[in-house]
Amino acid sequence: MVLSKEYLGIFKEKTKEIEEKTLYQLWKELRKFDNIDENKAVDILNEIAKRFLVREGSRDSYIFERILEKELKEDLEDEEIKSHIEWVIKFLKDVKMLEIKENVELNERKCKLGKMLLEKKKNLSEKNEMIEEIDRLHRTLHRFAEKVYRNIRNRDYVNAYHYYVRCLKASYGLISLLSVKNLKEYSQEAIRDGLTELLNRRKMWAIMRDVMELSMLSGRAFSIAIIDIDNFKKLNDENGHLVGDIVLREVAKEIEKNVRKSDYVFRYGGEEFLVLMPSTDLEEAVKVMEQVRQKIENKEIKCDKKVLRVSVSIGVCSDVYDGKKLIEDYIECADKKLYEAKRKGKNRVEY
Ligand code: GH3
Ligand code: MG
Ligand code: MG
Repeated sequence: MVLSKEYLGIFKEKTKEIEEKTLYQLWKELRKFDNIDENKAVDILNEIAKRFLVREGSRDSYIFERILEKELKEDLEDEEIKSHIEWVIKFLKDVKMLEIKENVELNERKCKLGKMLLEKKKNLSEKNEMIEEIDRLHRTLHRFAEKVYRNIRNRDYVNAYHYYVRCLKASYGLISLLSVKNLKEYSQEAIRDGLTELLNRRKMWAIMRDVMELSMLSGRAFSIAIIDIDNFKKLNDENGHLVGDIVLREVAKEIEKNVRKSDYVFRYGGEEFLVLMPSTDLEEAVKVMEQVRQKIENKEIKCDKKVLRVSVSIGVCSDVYDGKKLIEDYIECADKKLYEAKRKGKNRVEY
């Protein structure tokens, strides 16, 4: 095994997730000894990575077991989510035992979820973006899992750990995506706003609770953004309500276009939108929202032979749910940031 720059990247990334001494810090410590034998340093790191694998494998399998338990309790009808969670649990069992039994089906076309996806794609008359996205993520997951096994077999635990982290990230992404898909397939009118076709507030609390729970179980952050159109009253006054409605619809479309498929966009108020982003930290959320802001600012909305332009102000907040805060606390936090954005001159993102 050769110690490459790539490893350093892995360790750096991991520092965000592990509170204890990380591989990266240990690597730095080791480097302080001028005369340390490079091979010996590698051996030490490899041994540490091995322990990380065992520890995180146990922790994550506990999390996924809890998720499955909860889903089953709620009379889960969705075979896709269930089969995927079961797949991950089996995989994690191998990882935490450092076994190479390969209890799981590694071929992405042959595992239960893979077969269902294939079937679904066959039955669709046109290309469905959501299914494509799920399919992509699912393939990624299998590729990484295969690499985890291969590296465990070669006793290269540093690399095994590297792919393990990615594999788990893909898993969490897949779970949120599969649950959004369900929701989007759900009978439309009851949960969709008539004007913008976004989700309405009716399902918002239930969905937020699920996302917060996932955050607590996984230890990964989720983010909330509130988007408010600037000077919308004036636009209505000058152009009429019908034009205002067209603008609302266009802004809604632009938001949906620029967020991920695993995110939820709600029409939160008259000219306010709430975006809920599972498995997303503040940095990522702000990046996405900044892009939304720019896209809307540069959008030309044509109606009544006129070309209109609008801007939005956005407040973002993010947290790893600790089981204590209320949903309202998070909304209030994003609202405060939004107010700050308005106060600082509008057409900006505050966090
Ligand atoms: P600010 O930049 O501070 O957000 O100012 P604003 O004018 O956007 O905010 P304000 O809250 O004063 O006004 C919001 C306006 O949005 C008032 C209301 O008439 C309009 N509005 C709310 N819902 C709808 C709708 O469904 N259609 C239309 N056309 N207008 C709406
Ligand atoms: Mg408003
Ligand atoms: Mg407004």
